[in-house]
Amino acid sequence: MINILLAITVGKIIETILECLLALLIIIMVINTFRIKKTAINNKKDIVELDNKKLKNHLIKAIQIPTISPISLEEDTTAFDKFEKFLEESYPLVHKYCEKTVINTHALLFKVSASEKTELLPIGFLAHQDVVPAEPKGWDYPPFSGEVVIEDGVEYIYGRGAIDMKVHLLATMEAVEHLISVGHKFNRDVYLCFGFDEELSGRLGAFQIVNYLKEKNITLEFIVDEGGVVLDGSMLGIDGKVALIGNSEKGYADFTLTATKDGGHSSSPIHPTSIEVLAKGITKLEKHRFPTRWTPSTIELFEELTPFMKPGYKFVCANRKIFSPILKYVLCKVNPAVAAILRTTLSPTIMSGSAGFNIIGREACVNINCRMLPGDTKDSVLKYIQKIVGKDIEVTWQPITCYDPPSKISSAHTDSFQTIAKAISLSFDKLVPAPFPFIAGSDAKFYYPVAKNVYRFSPYPISEEDTTRIHSANERMATANLAPAVNFFINLIKIS
Ligand SMILES: [Zn+2]
Repeated sequence: MINILLAITVGKIIETILECLLALLIIIMVINTFRIKKTAINNKKDIVELDNKKLKNHLIKAIQIPTISPISLEEDTTAFDKFEKFLEESYPLVHKYCEKTVINTHALLFKVSASEKTELLPIGFLAHQDVVPAEPKGWDYPPFSGEVVIEDGVEYIYGRGAIDMKVHLLATMEAVEHLISVGHKFNRDVYLCFGFDEELSGRLGAFQIVNYLKEKNITLEFIVDEGGVVLDGSMLGIDGKVALIGNSEKGYADFTLTATKDGGHSSSPIHPTSIEVLAKGITKLEKHRFPTRWTPSTIELFEELTPFMKPGYKFVCANRKIFSPILKYVLCKVNPAVAAILRTTLSPTIMSGSAGFNIIGREACVNINCRMLPGDTKDSVLKYIQKIVGKDIEVTWQPITCYDPPSKISSAHTDSFQTIAKAISLSFDKLVPAPFPFIAGSDAKFYYPVAKNVYRFSPYPISEEDTTRIHSANERMATANLAPAVNFFINLIKIS
């Protein structure tokens, strides 16, 4: 009897302790939520009136020159000669007052000199002249026509490069052209650095520009390349738009998976065939994706955005460590791009398995394209893939494409980052700037040896639907985005 009473009493005490702990945890979480303070966003805009017709015509003309990335300089690269000529005709003041250097035949470097002698380090704006190929099939308008179309009351310019990234390249040129035309006094040197093979590797263009800058002992305070975009904040519980500034970049590597079995006549198959073995391996990779994890860049992204979230979202994100598994699960469901900031991704791309309809091939291969988070390397990924697919499949690194390890992270707590964030607020309505781990690749990755800070920001709002058109059919840019993009670079130069 005494034992039973004792057990009940101990049980009650444990229950009470647990209730107290739970209450304490909730109090801590609520304090965490309210402790977070919003940083004030400057909503005073500084906008220069620009000739929209001219901006539009420049983009149309730029799209009409099919500057498809060359694998080597042995190829026909006359489109790049035409593009250079187009820039010369369209931006006479830049060409008159800036120093232009042509590197490795088609990489272009423009230097705008500071108006007075200064100790300030120069800054650099990057863009690539090249575009990925575009077959007319699937396009509503020819991909290199620069067709102007009005849809649902919005005017768009269609064409390859409309988003990625002729609009960005032209915006930097327009900004400098404008500032020279109004007699602006440049505080420091500004470099415009235009590669021409970013879509392949960047080693003919950007890499050579960096070598040139190194030779000249030039160090840049910061650079801005393509990367983060202006997105609708609703998916993260934020009213208005979010300006994502890429402060790191995932690594890149390709791997070949090869299954080898006896080939033969398809009328008498010996199972499993090489294709069947390979297919099982691919399925295993799909089932056993890389585990999700927080990187310093992703943590910074949430720390910056949480203060602007609606209460429910804010409560969860302010207590990220407690809700981590749920939060990661939910984020992976938002969309593939959000999921990609949380894990190293593996995508099967090119496959081969047989030379004929009735031939069972001896060898079946698939290319796995990998974008890796900081902390992973080519070797660690290879080990992971091999472990998952098992010993029946040989895994090798594919050296035809280059291996780029994950980039360093440029902090969001620098003057340079704040300057970019300020230029954004001066150029766009109510925007929340935040650092962001860029999930694709860019020329910016080469610039770490010559730039103190490396950031990526594409200054134009793009709908989620339009982002799926990049590298795909019907790429387009709303003409209303042109002037704000130019204003962003104007403001950035003015306040740098
Ligand atoms: Zn690009």
